[in-house]
Amino acid sequence: MSFTNLGLSGPLQSAIKKSGYTEPYPIQSAAIPAILAGKDILGIAQTGSGKTASFVLPILQQFQKKYFTKNRFIKALILVPTRELAVQVGSVFALFNHNLPRPIKTLAVYGGVSINPQMIQMQHVEILVATPGRLLDLVANKAVHLSAVETLVLDEADKMLNLEFKSEMDRIFKLLPPQRQNLLFSATLGKDVHTLTEMLLRDPVKIEIEAQEESVMPPIELFGYRVNEDRKGPLLRYLIKSQNMQQVLVFTSSVFRADAVVEKLKAHGIAALALHSKKSQGARTDALRYLKTGEIRVLVATDLASRGIDIPLLPVVINYELPRSPKDFIHRIGRTGRAGAAGLAISLVAEEEEQHFRVIQKKMGKWVDMVDTENLSLKGF
Ligand code: AMP
Repeated sequence: MSFTNLGLSGPLQSAIKKSGYTEPYPIQSAAIPAILAGKDILGIAQTGSGKTASFVLPILQQFQKKYFTKNRFIKALILVPTRELAVQVGSVFALFNHNLPRPIKTLAVYGGVSINPQMIQMQHVEILVATPGRLLDLVANKAVHLSAVETLVLDEADKMLNLEFKSEMDRIFKLLPPQRQNLLFSATLGKDVHTLTEMLLRDPVKIEIEAQEESVMPPIELFGYRVNEDRKGPLLRYLIKSQNMQQVLVFTSSVFRADAVVEKLKAHGIAALALHSKKSQGARTDALRYLKTGEIRVLVATDLASRGIDIPLLPVVINYELPRSPKDFIHRIGRTGRAGAAGLAISLVAEEEEQHFRVIQKKMGKWVDMVDTENLSLKGF
């Protein structure tokens, strides 16, 4: 299978090539032609299957032909359950948009941050990625109107059907025009999802993708956060606190930096210890044990120390600084991933490191979704 015979236009194919994808994943081969044909879709697929690009690419293609008419009347709406997913989906749109002759203005909105900048950024947006609560707030403020939506995507539909979203989702459905293309993606097809598909989808194309073998696709979610060097500390503390991370391994490139990061974490009430070559063997063993037992939340390590030591698999690894060698990067992120659940590996990438990060990704053979943090307020962190 190749991207050339899925019905995608020349500019889209060239954008895909520039973005580093060489072959379509199975869900992409199945979903893209059906979506381009205007069909409703029910995709049963896990995160990691490539489902995001399977709707992003055809939506971008459909919009190459359309011309935007009225400001604030969005044409495509992608509903997601969490802020992280909103950012992630937004960055996949950005990845391809970046390489298109007519980029389609896309915005990701979510709660937990100030609404005012989002209201301003809504100007001339055509594709909106949103969590339900924030979307309704924006509608209430007349920053966005849903009556012209032509394509609706529900990502992780199983989660969106949780009771916590029920009343919000009901209100959103009432605001959408009845005539539209519906694309539903879910990890499972539970009873609730089944009810929703009956209600929403017209003669859908059903696509089911089996979970991939672990060896083919390690269950690690990779993110890069673009951040100024001087905001790395606040961003690290923000991530740990806002995502309530309880067991984190942070990597720095020097002993000096490891100690400095630990001091700052402690000053902000986060229990942390350093693990590096200047620590005695006893102190290193203790530090690891404290992380395992939960007596500390964060262990800040250098590569040198991490090599010879048996570090257990952890839910989250954060690269405060990138390692020089791609091999070390792979070694670092290999510290995360738990049986059955995806591990999370985050890299804080300063502008000066971006080129090096691209080299690492190329060597690794996997592209990492980048998140912009420029507009993120880190006051108090
Ligand atoms: P998703 O399931 O949409 O979260 O995608 C999982 C990961 O696979 C993301 O890091 C994507 O950038 C990557 N990905 C998706 N499609 C392809 C492809 N055709 N080739 C290479 N990487 C891909």
